[in-house]
Amino acid sequence: MKLITVDTAASAHSPVSVLVIYTGGTFGMVYDRRLETLVPFNFEQILDRIPELARLRFSISVLVLDELLDSSNMQPEHWLHLSQIIAERYDQYDSFVIVHGTDTMAYTASALSFLFENLNKPVILTGAQLPIGAARTDAVENFITALEIAAARDEYNQPMVPEVAIYFHSLLLRGNRARKQESSQFNAFQSENYPLLAEAGVTIDYNRPYIRSYQSDQPFRVHQKLDSNVVILKIFPGISASVLHSILSIENLKGVVLETYGAGNAPTAPWFLEALQKATERGVILLNVSQCMGGKVMQGRYQTSKYLNDMGLVSGADLTSEAAVTKLMFLLGQYGDDIERIRKELSESLRGELS
Ligand code: ASP
Repeated sequence: MKLITVDTAASAHSPVSVLVIYTGGTFGMVYDRRLETLVPFNFEQILDRIPELARLRFSISVLVLDELLDSSNMQPEHWLHLSQIIAERYDQYDSFVIVHGTDTMAYTASALSFLFENLNKPVILTGAQLPIGAARTDAVENFITALEIAAARDEYNQPMVPEVAIYFHSLLLRGNRARKQESSQFNAFQSENYPLLAEAGVTIDYNRPYIRSYQSDQPFRVHQKLDSNVVILKIFPGISASVLHSILSIENLKGVVLETYGAGNAPTAPWFLEALQKATERGVILLNVSQCMGGKVMQGRYQTSKYLNDMGLVSGADLTSEAAVTKLMFLLGQYGDDIERIRKELSESLRGELS
């Protein structure tokens, strides 16, 4: 990993220090005329690309990962690596900005939110829809504002946003509430079920009642285990018994995020219910989340979800699938075979991920 110090206007009187972790993604791409393709740019030239950084009144260091990733290649081991990087430097910096591809940014933000317990410093993820090398890039505004948010302090000189969040196209969203909802427009992220943490216009307006409060006296802890023996299963009209059966009988399967219809409804055909029943009897945890962008699962409201309730599926309430699958990995990693504990914690809000 390479550490770069950006020469900003920070002085001894503005001691806030931000560590940027550059993981890859569209953000850092520039067009290589010779290769006639987009290639990662050299972050040491960040000031040539964004000279405005020199005017920021806090210090910025950039850690460039050895392997720059299109975020489609992000895996749980990368989340653990990122969390370890932050754990090792937690006392050295006041806040962290992670530059990340947009495709799996919401998964990474969710995973980190669970891995970090009693986080007291901002961890802001950002990226871009258009590379920094493009004339109309959104990378510059996203990056500068993410830095400003990471460095922002309240009237008690405490971090304004001491949680894992995503800043993108003027919006600051809770990380484990966000979803990528747009691949062509600049407004890539939305959090249908939770208010914005901030909105950046002429000023950055913080929605303070909705920002997690500073957890001053609790020690920061980074968990280091994730169990990825899980699957997201989206039901659809026409799903066959053999498809359902094949998925639910995967060896070592421990958890299923079942993406159901509407308020948590699913088919009531006996073969469907029996397959789910068998899986729960084998100790597979089934977590019911909705395919809808907004709203929540209300198991038992309709007859088509009452069966699921009776069978012991855990209601995911208004969890996003991204938060649901990473929470399952996290809890399976922490508690292993203690199914009752996992089921209990799935229904509770651990990091503000459900209402
Ligand atoms: N495929 C890219 C990535 O997620 C897209 C992006 O960064 O916007 O890394």
